[in-house]
Amino acid sequence: MITCTRRLEFDAAHRILKHESKCKMLHGHRYALEASFMAKELDELGRVIDFGKIRELLGAWIDDNLDHNTILSIHDKELGENIAKTTGQKIYYLDENPTAENIAKHILEKICPKIFAKESVKCVAIKLYETPNCSVYVE
Ligand SMILES: [Zn+2]
Repeated sequence: MITCTRRLEFDAAHRILKHESKCKMLHGHRYALEASFMAKELDELGRVIDFGKIRELLGAWIDDNLDHNTILSIHDKELGENIAKTTGQKIYYLDENPTAENIAKHILEKICPKIFAKESVKCVAIKLYETPNCSVYVE
């Protein structure tokens, strides 16, 4: 099996509810996401999927939903509504705490199957860097 991986970066704020330390404060990261894809067979040009197509589909979703936005737990709605009222942002809520783990899992399990439904590939893994030194990997 051959996988192909595209790296996409975005800026977003989050905070971790009940965190023992500084991560309970609202703060931002330059996230770097590496999405890996597999296909049953290569296309007629010899590709899993065109790298540009990943940018076009997943990159556009990230631009619309996460980039320069705030990612919060659904249990953090009071903060989200205050930010939205002040900035006009459409806060992106997760059912769980917006850790790198949960953001990666959400993109792999909920978002990619939807946005790549018409393509003959499957997103099989997400690696998400929260900082250059800290990343999570979900498959
Ligand atoms: Zn953080």
